Amino acid sequence: MTVTRFAPSPTGNLHLGHAYSALYSERVAREEGGKFLLRIEDIDGTRCRSEYIQNIYDDIEWLGVVWDDEVIVQSNRLKFYVTKAEILEQRGLLYPCFCTRKELANINGKELNREKRLYPKTCLRLTNEQVAEKKSQGVPFSLRLNSNKAKEETGKIFWNDQTTGRHEVNYDALGDVVLVRKDIGTSYHMAVTIDDDFQDVTCITRGLDLVESTHVHRILQSLLGLQVPEWSHHKLIKGSDGNKYSKSNQSLTLKELRESGVSGAEIRKELGF
Ligand code: GLU
Repeated sequence: MTVTRFAPSPTGNLHLGHAYSALYSERVAREEGGKFLLRIEDIDGTRCRSEYIQNIYDDIEWLGVVWDDEVIVQSNRLKFYVTKAEILEQRGLLYPCFCTRKELANINGKELNREKRLYPKTCLRLTNEQVAEKKSQGVPFSLRLNSNKAKEETGKIFWNDQTTGRHEVNYDALGDVVLVRKDIGTSYHMAVTIDDDFQDVTCITRGLDLVESTHVHRILQSLLGLQVPEWSHHKLIKGSDGNKYSKSNQSLTLKELRESGVSGAEIRKELGF
């Protein structure tokens, strides 16, 4: 049975891009007689707010989107993400990174394509003694994937997108991503991968802006022996200014639309549902 999900992070109010994503995910499930799940991705306690969670429920209901089963709230599941990261760490697949935000910004420079520049593995070159010393001094650290080691374990791996086709995981383009953040003890990549497996999601529906992350998730599935679903990354809808909707560019929110008297049905129609 097809199982899809909509997994917003309550770090702000939802906008039209989220409405599209929720409607898209629901449609994929319904067309195939499957299930559509809602998951609240609130691992980042510093940025998530309970009022945004309430607004997610209100927005979704207003849109007429109906989810199945119980809603999973990630902040209740942190211990599962920690346990899986420990397994990877014990297998030598993660290493501590003590670089500060400032140091990383210097490494990455200020160029436009800075997100394409990879971590130069500075902390991978630390000796065991240096690591032990930093830890004993209480220097905060994140844990990064040792991508060379991971590649040795997984070999060539692939993932399938119903919209963009078959992809091979390109380790060289990814670098050593952070899987355990300093501040919250886990990461989006860990939480999302573990929960998609836990909830038996068969088709991961989300926007094309997250397509790069899928390579990381596919690696984690392979390393942790999790189920490998299909993906369906959908187009990103744009506002009248030609920019994609985002929380940061102050897009009109669903809450504002709702409160101004627009109906959920009108929005569905406008978005093509
Ligand atoms: N929580 C993520 C976000 O709001 C989406 C996660 C996903 O769909 O994989 O951007």
